[in-house]
Amino acid sequence: MTKKEGSTNETAAGGEMTLADFQRLIREMYLPKDVARGVDGTFMWLIEEVGELAGALRDGNHEDQENEFADVLAWLTTIANVVGVDLTEAVRKKYGGGCPGCGRFVCQCSDSGKP
Ligand SMILES: [Zn+2]
Repeated sequence: MTKKEGSTNETAAGGEMTLADFQRLIREMYLPKDVARGVDGTFMWLIEEVGELAGALRDGNHEDQENEFADVLAWLTTIANVVGVDLTEAVRKKYGGGCPGCGRFVCQCSDSGKP
């Protein structure tokens, strides 16, 4: 399921789009539907899109990959909206000070660790 609809939001038409702009755009386009569907149903869509991304990474061309990255980010953002998480704030808190593991801006964690 592709999330796409006409929008009057200028950021959708061209130019720079921050993560906050994108989260606002998704909220304005879909929030009532997303809240009605709920976290569980929305999470299912996210996972379906993650599967489609896997397929595009394996077999798709660059445009297919772009489309699937956009869909995964849209559904991830949707879930954040439903539960009231500000993604910009979340990302800034976790990664704004560098790697959460070692605190550096070029990760120095050992290769056995996740980062
Ligand atoms: Zn690190």
